[in-house]
Amino acid sequence: MAQDKKVEQITNMEDDFAQWYTDICRKAELVEYASVKGFTILRPYGYAIWENIQRIMDGEFKKTGHENVAMPVLIPESLLKKEGELVNGFAPEVAWVTMGGSEKLEERLAFRPTSETMFCDHWHNVLQTYRQLPMLYNQWCSVIRWEKTTRPFLRSREFWWQEGHTIHETAEEARAETEQQLKCYADFFENVLAIPVVPGRKTEKEKFAGAEATYTVECMMKDRKALQGATSHYFGDKFSRAYDVTFAGRDNKLQYPFQTSWGSTTRMIGAVIMTHGDNNGLVLPPRIAPVQAVVIPIAAHKKPEVAEAAKELKARLLAIDVRTKLDDSDQSMGWKCAEYEMRGVPLRIEIGPRDLENGQCCIVRRDNGEKTFVALDTLESAVKELLDRIHDNMLERARANLEENTFDLSTWEEVKEMASGRGGFARTKWCGSRECELGMKEKAGVSSRCMPLHQSGTKGKCVFCGKEATTDIYWGVAY
Ligand SMILES: [Zn+2]
Repeated sequence: MAQDKKVEQITNMEDDFAQWYTDICRKAELVEYASVKGFTILRPYGYAIWENIQRIMDGEFKKTGHENVAMPVLIPESLLKKEGELVNGFAPEVAWVTMGGSEKLEERLAFRPTSETMFCDHWHNVLQTYRQLPMLYNQWCSVIRWEKTTRPFLRSREFWWQEGHTIHETAEEARAETEQQLKCYADFFENVLAIPVVPGRKTEKEKFAGAEATYTVECMMKDRKALQGATSHYFGDKFSRAYDVTFAGRDNKLQYPFQTSWGSTTRMIGAVIMTHGDNNGLVLPPRIAPVQAVVIPIAAHKKPEVAEAAKELKARLLAIDVRTKLDDSDQSMGWKCAEYEMRGVPLRIEIGPRDLENGQCCIVRRDNGEKTFVALDTLESAVKELLDRIHDNMLERARANLEENTFDLSTWEEVKEMASGRGGFARTKWCGSRECELGMKEKAGVSSRCMPLHQSGTKGKCVFCGKEATTDIYWGVAY
């Protein structure tokens, strides 16, 4: 049967999680490989998910006064090199343009790996007085990082993202901005992507090149590996000094502004796949699903009224802004069920001759397979409610996965046993030394994920050296 064949195409996640992931990316038509090695094409269905993410997130950024801009894709080498730490951090991954037409360029131009330098150069030119501050900018674009190994959404040489860049009159304001945007990401992950997060601060070793502090939201995938969801950085006035960005302060003296940047990428789609997907395919959180409900008429060729009723259901749902698709094609019912299941459509609405007689339709949830019969005159409220319930259920399930697989451990041997076994997050105490962090990587096979914002406040001993600890910390095996 066509239905069985469709499902067979996806490897079981228990057998091979990596292959299961790749199968979903390809079979659900989210991405395709491009002819340039390491580059991917976002196909219409994948791009539609990204568009929904962009629309909702952009709305949140604008609520707090951020404005979108567009910076050039190329950065002169001399400009990129002005801030040593940043360029050292990114140097191995920078792609260069050396020719313009048939002429060799006098100076190499870098494809942007990130745009701090461009923003600083611009602010150097336009900033004059404290009255212009804060400048709260964001841009939606793609960047290039010449990665050695690539995987759809998780690591590719070009990826799409938003990068927020702001400058402020005081350090306090810039720090508050860094924290506000981290909270914005945490809320977005939970309220839109149905993914619970551990918000926290990165260690000195793991922080962004050139930042004073990097904050992150860490998520746990279904294979119990960690994925860094989004990051928010505080730069102090380091870049301002490197790029000579100054303004006349309230005392009329020249000052350096304080800076932040924060970013999230198409990686979030990878997180959605690996947090919610199952062996039948994608399971999409309703708020970003390109199609929230698919209407399928049954035996419509025998009863034209059924075809009419299905069209009407679609029109009614579109009228209340539920993204709805009608599939009245001649594919079999089995094929259609498997297809929309694989594509992760949250609701499947079936209507046949008997349903029509009874004044009802049958609604099937993608997240748990539950079927309910809904009276046609309550369609709108029933669908809205079901979409919300699906979101809540998906978030709760993901939260259970996170909580059940987070372990409070006190020795590196225990962490090693966890990491080399079923996996998960280890929450331990840490003394703060780089040696112990490197030791954990070498001996226990884990990297530090973050020092959580919510600290237990209890004292204890470092998981590695046994000396007095200064912080709680999460460890895991990460994507
Ligand atoms: Zn230690």
